[in-house]
This record gives sequence, C-alpha cells and structure tokens, in this order.
Amino acid sequence: MNLNVLQFKSDSERLTHNLDHRERIQSALKKYYVARDDKKARFQDWQAARQAAAETKWEAVNHLDKYLVEFADKIEARGAKVHWASTAEQAREIILGIVKEKNARRIIKSKVMTGEEIHLNAALEAAGYDVVESDLGEYIVQLRHEAPYHFVFPAMHLSRGEISDLFEKELGSAKTDSPEELTMIARRVMRDQYLAADIGISGANFAVAETGMISITENEGNARLTCALPKVHIALMGIEKVLPKFEDLALFLPMLGTAGAGQAVTCYNSMYAGPRQPGETDGPEEMHIVLLDNKRTHLLADIEQRDALHCIRCGACLNVCPIYKNVGGHTYGTTYQGPIGSVITPHLRGIQEWKHLSSASTLCGACTEACPVKINLHHHLLHNRRNAIAQKPVWWEQTLFHLSSILFNHPALWRLAAWGGRIGQLFHPLIQGTILDPARAWTKTRDLPPVADQTFKEYWRSRQK
Ligand code: SF4
Repeated sequence: MNLNVLQFKSDSERLTHNLDHRERIQSALKKYYVARDDKKARFQDWQAARQAAAETKWEAVNHLDKYLVEFADKIEARGAKVHWASTAEQAREIILGIVKEKNARRIIKSKVMTGEEIHLNAALEAAGYDVVESDLGEYIVQLRHEAPYHFVFPAMHLSRGEISDLFEKELGSAKTDSPEELTMIARRVMRDQYLAADIGISGANFAVAETGMISITENEGNARLTCALPKVHIALMGIEKVLPKFEDLALFLPMLGTAGAGQAVTCYNSMYAGPRQPGETDGPEEMHIVLLDNKRTHLLADIEQRDALHCIRCGACLNVCPIYKNVGGHTYGTTYQGPIGSVITPHLRGIQEWKHLSSASTLCGACTEACPVKINLHHHLLHNRRNAIAQKPVWWEQTLFHLSSILFNHPALWRLAAWGGRIGQLFHPLIQGTILDPARAWTKTRDLPPVADQTFKEYWRSRQK
C-alpha cells in the first residue's frame, strides 16, 4: 500500500472519531448553507445561470489556444510580461528568476492556490527570501506551518482560542476571544509587511481574453494591497482560468460569491490590466503573469473528463461533501481537497498513487448538485475508479468478481451460500472485529446486517401458495 493511502486511511479514521473536529466543521458551515440559499434566490433562475456558466467555460476550455493567446497579447500590449510554465518546476524557476533579478528580499503573497500547488513558499524560503501570506486564514496556517484546510476558508479547522494562542506565541500579542481583535493583530503586522515588500505575488480568479485583464476577488482587501504596493506584481494562475469576454464576469463574479461563501458578490473585486500606466499614480512598476500548465493539458486531452477544468475553485462541493465534513481538508494530502480534488488530483499527480481519493466517496451526488458550473463530479469519480482499474487491475478484486459471477450464475451454489451465511452469522459474534473476522474492516465500527431468514425466491414461492 502506498504512503498516500496509508496516510489517508489513518488520518480519516482518527478524524471521523474526533467529535470536536466534526462539530467545528459543521458549525463553521452552518451559516454558509443559509446564506448560500438566500443568495441563490436572488438569481432569477439559478439553474439557467449554472447552464450559462457551464457553456461559457466549455467554450473557453475547448478553445484555450485561442483565448490564452488573445489574453497574453492584450495584457502584454499594456506592458505586462507573460511567462508560460509547463511544469511546477518551471513556474518556480520563473518566479525565483524575477525575484533574483529584482534583488528582492521580502515578498508578500495574497491567497494563491497555484502557489500551494507548486510549493512556491518552500522554494522561496529555501532560496533565502522572506515570504508572508497576507490573507488572514493563509497567514494563520502559515504561522502553523500547515497547508490550507479549504480553498475558501483556509483556517476553518481552528477555534478562536487556538488562533489567539498562536498569535500570543508567534507575535507576542495578548490573549483575546474577539474575532475583530484577532483580525486587527494580523492587520497591524501586515501593514509593515506591505510597505517593506519588494514583490507581491497573487493568483487570479479569472483572466479575461477580450480585454487582457485578470480579475481577483477577495473579502479582506489584502490582495489589492499585495498587487498595488510593491514595485513588482507577479500573478501565478492556471491556464484554465481564462474567460472569453469581459461581460462573462457579470455572471461569474456573483456566482463565485454565492457558491463560495454565500455572498451576493465578494467584498472586493479588482481587475488588473498591466503595470502602472503613464499618468497613473499607483500600481506596480512591473507586472508578470505566469501561466501554469502543470498537467492541465493532460486533463484537457481527456475528452470525457476535461470539463473538470471548468472549476472556479468556489469550494461549494467541499462544503456539501459528507466525506469532507468528516475527514476535513488535510486528510486528503493534496492541494485541492474534497470532490474536485479527488477528481483532478489523479490527473495532475498520477492515478495509481491517488486513485484512493476517488474511492472515498458516497457517490451521493451532492457535489454535482452544488457545483455552479455543473461539473458532473460524482460521475468523474466513477470514471477515475474505472480508469485506475483498467490501467492496473487488482488481482484480488478480479478474483472476487469472478467468484461472485459464478455464484450469481449458479442458483444451487447461491442457495448454498445463503444457507452458509445464515449458519455463519450464528457463530460470527464469537469472532466479530477480531483478526479471524473476514468482515472486520466493516464490523470494527458497525454491525453486520443479518442475513434474511428467507431468500427472495423462498419468499416469492411462499406467497404463491
Ligand atoms: S468543482 Fe464546482 S463546486 Fe467544486 S470547487 Fe470547482 S466550481 Fe466549485
């Protein structure tokens, strides 16, 4: 069994038994459901909006070659420099190259999931640079040397008390239970960081081909300062973020706010179209866009599953997923957690090493229903399972299915098995949950359903009499 599977199994077992953790996730999401439904009701027709968003993303993803070039040409015409990175390593090299060329020392970042994906902080810190996360949640998990717990709520697993203790230990602040005061503590630290930073690194929620702009949505205003105050702004984004037209934002911005955090729109929605222009009073002197592939084109090459690239990283599928709500974000061991993470990670990081994530699903379809861009998530999980088996069959599963098919095709054998099951269950309590129990993976924590007294055939016959 590979290490990823072992880690996933042990962490998920530990956390599903941790009632405090489950309670924390449930209560963090409780207000979200109400707010999301309230904001969905503001759409004239939420289902029609989902369909329109899915079609727009389909157009963009199926013509990436055209829209990416259009975006790059337009933003370069206003003075930005576009870099194309095929791999995580290339993206890191490009960013380290810029940082080095500028003789930068201090770097401030706003929330960048692609930065997590390419392990950017570790690379920058290893090269001797100071990197500070400006998003409050990201800053908290950075102080804890942890990865974000959720796309949208990176520190949702922590209580106010834990954050207060962390700030007391790391920043020397006084203990407080007030969320406002905790925010102010981080804000005071951050203010100096903005002024001292040589380089600001952001992600991008969308890139508009028609106008050559990136769009960044946030609730704290930190990304605006990250992009505007340092002399150099680097935006790192996946190639799938492109949208064809400026007017597409009129749909995608409220949709992202609604599905992501139950807001009509997020508090700050900014567009950046190159560095400071002549006559402008603020903004960076230089702007770099790093367009990251990192196996996205592998997913694009898969006609059946390429619509997973439609994802706008709203996190709605995580918020409704019964698995995520039990095992939490870190258990996945990936940058992208929850249902969408389980769909795309095997494509981005290897199906054999990560296929277990696609099996960790009830296939209830809640994620598919929640997805604002209509990605058929639970079917993609099934596709991943099928593809993993087709690529590398598992001998014991094949044997089990073969034996089952013999049983199902021979009524006499099936009757014998049903009879054996009824006898076996009389003795089962003696070995339940022990090493001798063939069903112990199930019976360790659950009761084995009793074998029916009659087979269906026997029952049917008895009704005919
Ligand atoms: S798959 Fe859909 S619901 Fe999940 S994060 Fe992406 S856009 Fe949101």
